[in-house]
Amino acid sequence: MQDKCTFCGRSRDEVNLLIAGNDGFICDDCATQAYDIVQEEMRSHTHLDMEGIEVKKPMEIKAFLDEYVIGQDEAKKHLAVAVYNHYKRLMQKGGKDDVEIEKSNIIMVGRTGTGKTLLARTIAKMLHVPFTIVDATVLTEAGYVGEDIESILTRLLQAADYDVEAAEKGIVFIDELDKIARKGDNPSITRDVSGEGVQQGLLKLLEGSVVNVPPQGGRKHPDQKMIPVNTKNILFICGGAFDGIEKKIAARMNSMVVGFNASQAIEKIDRENFLQYIAPQDLKSFGLIPEIIGRLPVLTYLEPLDRQALRNILTEPKNAIIRQYVKLFELDGITLKFEEEVYEYIVDKAVEFHLGARGLRSICEAIMTDMMFEIPSQERKEVTVTKAYAEEKLSRVQAQKLRA
Ligand code: ADP
Repeated sequence: MQDKCTFCGRSRDEVNLLIAGNDGFICDDCATQAYDIVQEEMRSHTHLDMEGIEVKKPMEIKAFLDEYVIGQDEAKKHLAVAVYNHYKRLMQKGGKDDVEIEKSNIIMVGRTGTGKTLLARTIAKMLHVPFTIVDATVLTEAGYVGEDIESILTRLLQAADYDVEAAEKGIVFIDELDKIARKGDNPSITRDVSGEGVQQGLLKLLEGSVVNVPPQGGRKHPDQKMIPVNTKNILFICGGAFDGIEKKIAARMNSMVVGFNASQAIEKIDRENFLQYIAPQDLKSFGLIPEIIGRLPVLTYLEPLDRQALRNILTEPKNAIIRQYVKLFELDGITLKFEEEVYEYIVDKAVEFHLGARGLRSICEAIMTDMMFEIPSQERKEVTVTKAYAEEKLSRVQAQKLRA
């Protein structure tokens, strides 16, 4: 009997390829079709997941964040609750007399390199939703040089592979929001290209509205067809260093505590870290317009990273820098070890060069590059990075070269 495709019944000479299985055959056409069906099914399942998204409880969300981000408990708690509420809101079946839960967009204030982006990224990873990072500094009002506000959504669409429905439930991280603050406390009379106008534009997205998005972004493709995207359910997480905001917080607190019991109250203030007392009105004094502040109801802060935190960042998180090197060597069948003092040394250098957490990686790269170049060609099964080795490698690199 001639071999035939079990699915379509065509014989070997009628098809390009007949693949034999245990108990039958499949032709190339049927295999391709089957693959398409599988893809389609998978896609509809992911959609289902989006609908009935398996949302973790706030404590579980925080535990997940703990695996990747060191410290920052306050910020993690706020984020966990905000994300939890956000998704509860998404699942709310809009009954008539239901209380409408407002969107919980988030703003995180903290020095650069303390983990704001990492937190947002980790949340997106946990939720399996489209995620994009935009830098507020490149945003300008329509018509000016720079990117239009809509470009934020172009990027989200791209991250979602142009699946509009998925993008509409995504997360956008807007970095350096402080850079679009109004300069000075007074509303300017002249048009302020980089500040207030952009804030007004951003407001439209934060509030939730249908925005026509150029799928390729930019003005290079003037005749592209716009895609309408509803931002109602997109979660916006903003971050910024807000340099100097501590002074505004301090000023507000000092004026608050005059009077009876004043000295006692002042004593309780932790002067090392004013950020923990941040309140919406401080953002206003910094130059954010009240409407924007109103649309970012969750306000939280990040702590500066101390030595211990930097030390932990090196080895503790699930994808910690050191773990990544160990993994890289492991893939070559080599066991990589570090002397304990090496970690301390790396932290010392990061502190010395004021590089913060961002510097840890460039310092490690400077130490590890030669080893990664040489070892795979040697017959070694084990290698240890000693402090002397680290010192020697790092001394060859000038501090300026270590990028923060
Ligand atoms: P920010 O957005 O606050 O400027 P990032 O989140 O981009 O800072 O941090 C830069 C890098 O430093 C991260 O990719 C991560 O490797 C490391 N890092 C910063 N803060 C932390 C932290 N709290 N826990 C773990 N890693 C951190």
